[in-house]
Amino acid sequence: MQTIYLDHAATTQVDPRVLEAMLPWLQGEFGNASSIHTLGRAANVAVEEAREKIAHYLNSTPAEIIFTSGGTESDNTAILGVLASSNRKECITSNAEHHAVLNPVEMAQHFGFQSKILPVSNKGIIDPKHLSAELSEQTSIVSLMHVNNENGAINPIKELAAISHKNGSIFHTDAVQSAGKFSLDVEDLGVDLLSISGHKLYGPKGVGILFAKAGIEFKPFMIGGSQERKRRAGTLNVPGIVGLGKAIELAFTEMSERSNHISGLKSYLQNGLSNIYGDQIQFNNPIGNDAYHIVNISFLSKNEKYLDGEMLLLNLDIEGICCSNGSACSSGAIEPSHVLLATGVPSKTAKSSLRLSLGKNNTVEQLDYVLEKLEKITKRMGLG
Ligand code: PMP
Repeated sequence: MQTIYLDHAATTQVDPRVLEAMLPWLQGEFGNASSIHTLGRAANVAVEEAREKIAHYLNSTPAEIIFTSGGTESDNTAILGVLASSNRKECITSNAEHHAVLNPVEMAQHFGFQSKILPVSNKGIIDPKHLSAELSEQTSIVSLMHVNNENGAINPIKELAAISHKNGSIFHTDAVQSAGKFSLDVEDLGVDLLSISGHKLYGPKGVGILFAKAGIEFKPFMIGGSQERKRRAGTLNVPGIVGLGKAIELAFTEMSERSNHISGLKSYLQNGLSNIYGDQIQFNNPIGNDAYHIVNISFLSKNEKYLDGEMLLLNLDIEGICCSNGSACSSGAIEPSHVLLATGVPSKTAKSSLRLSLGKNNTVEQLDYVLEKLEKITKRMGLG
């Protein structure tokens, strides 16, 4: 049976060209990039080449690129690192952020910092007016995501960063879902800190980037050795960094080709779902203001009967279809997606949802198969 992968917002397969670039650094070239001997120097050159390449595509300087273990570490470092080095005592974020942002914000409260959580609109988007209203002279850092990982909502980052700066606050964005899909020019966006994860853009897992604009002060999150100009301790993940550099290069050079292909697939999928289900479903994406790789739907109840989202995922898996619904298992119970709840989707409807996230290797034929199986399964489960 074929496997059809529609969970690219969760992770992506490593591009064979990325793997090829990484292999020498997993085999003979195993030096520690901090060592001064030949093997170490070769590793250091590879790391610095990747850093330069990435800086070029993000329009930053190489010194502003810090390699981390992924999106979570980059988000944690930005928020906790800035708070720890600032005289101001408050941070602002939104209720639709990833937990890699929400949880450090919560943790900061235990250390005596204040936090303000902005609501998102029913389309999942942050209203700049809400940010203006909440900023205070105590606001040290504002962290608001670029693209939401569950409903694809795109936030007006440039505007939000400018408003934060007027208040003298530092602006961080989690760009984990937008990196590689949209051209990210850190200067044009006006951000101070920006997080990227390798495994969302056909690179390896366990490696990421924190862009930190020159002059922005933050305490390092990982402390130990003096790697990354004392901003992130720990032996550099040379194969991962080389792979990430290659993945970013490919994402930027192939961006228009990939976005055309994936946008086309998304329209095809949305039309297919509308044709099958009509008013039995609602689209949770803010259509027209969403990223081109995510489709999120909820099945609507009939006489208070809700389709079980978890059961649907399992049934799709049996047919070789991998997707998700953004819900999380906490204390043994399935919790509905906090993002859908934040946009006003009722809890029971949120539990009856499906997130299909598309990638560069998906095809129309695969979507035809998915639509056919989905219709059969949902019918069997009592829909329609
Ligand atoms: N932020 C967002 C928006 C994400 O989608 C993810 C991954 N699900 C992360 C942060 C965490 O990234 P990583 O898996 O690299 O730690």
